[in-house]
Amino acid sequence: MESEPQPRLTDVDRRIWGEELDAFVPERIFDVHTHVYRWQFSGENDSGPLYDLLGNRFPVADWQRLDRCDAVLMPGRRVSRLAFGFPFPNCDFEAANRFVAGEAAKDPASAGLALVHPRLAEEDFERQLRDLKLIGLKPYRCYAAGGDPVACRIGDMLPDWQTALAERHGLIVMLHLARRDAIADPQNIADLERLAARHPHVKWILAHCARSYSAWPIERVAARLRGLPNVWFDTSSVCESDAIEALLAAVGPDRVMYGSDDLPVGVLRGKYIAFGYAWAYLSPDNQSLDLSHCNGQMTFTRYEQLRAMRRACQRLGLPRSQVEDIFCNTALRLIEAVRRGAR
Ligand SMILES: [Zn+2]
Repeated sequence: MESEPQPRLTDVDRRIWGEELDAFVPERIFDVHTHVYRWQFSGENDSGPLYDLLGNRFPVADWQRLDRCDAVLMPGRRVSRLAFGFPFPNCDFEAANRFVAGEAAKDPASAGLALVHPRLAEEDFERQLRDLKLIGLKPYRCYAAGGDPVACRIGDMLPDWQTALAERHGLIVMLHLARRDAIADPQNIADLERLAARHPHVKWILAHCARSYSAWPIERVAARLRGLPNVWFDTSSVCESDAIEALLAAVGPDRVMYGSDDLPVGVLRGKYIAFGYAWAYLSPDNQSLDLSHCNGQMTFTRYEQLRAMRRACQRLGLPRSQVEDIFCNTALRLIEAVRRGAR
């Protein structure tokens, strides 16, 4: 039997939502970073490292379950989504993309992206994309040509023909950068500048604040990011307010969008923390900190992210209309532009 990813609220969750988040999170939400999948597309058996989290605890991320999670974590909000598969290393891409398309079609405002790898057959893929009405591509570092998910460059994840296809149709490319310094890596920022200039109709979205879980990578390339008009950013799973503030200050609020990284990251209890030039996920199960001096309970990653977004917006004095743009209107406009084939 499939287990249900039904998050339950603790007193700590209720207090954080009530005291900090309820008045901040707008009524209308567009989540631009949603994973929709079935474990059966993973190509994994039940003894691998992904099994416990994705096979056992969250084996299905369909529209109904996502709606249910959002209703528990952000009650009363109306949520649309930009959805794509979970990047299982041995994924059945065709089945995964068909499932995403079917689920995203349940809400007319929502849309789906195709999970892609560099060795896809070009002709089949273009047809699949059209048939499924998917509006963009989601490459990922574990599929990179050369087989190095840590050091790979954008072009290793996204071959020229896929970028050209995205340019021809004005599609979104949702990019999770690799390399240790992420967007501050000299090759990454140079590659992005070159690709964005050569493919002005591609709508690039850099996931996880350009994979900056702290402020320094964004600050290091702020002026260069500001100069890239066809690049957007999502805030999914970034929990440090400094990082989100640095991004908003660098590129302005008009190109920053809310994303949840659910399922399952947002509903897990824990927080992405930054230190030195590193970041890591801290959870109840992966540390043995002595927390006897305080209330040591952890809340959802999503609540930590929303707290960080709130503090960043407050510190920058953003008006309510800009908060609503970040949570919904910018994404609606972007997706509408892709659907119109706007050039
Ligand atoms: Zn993700």
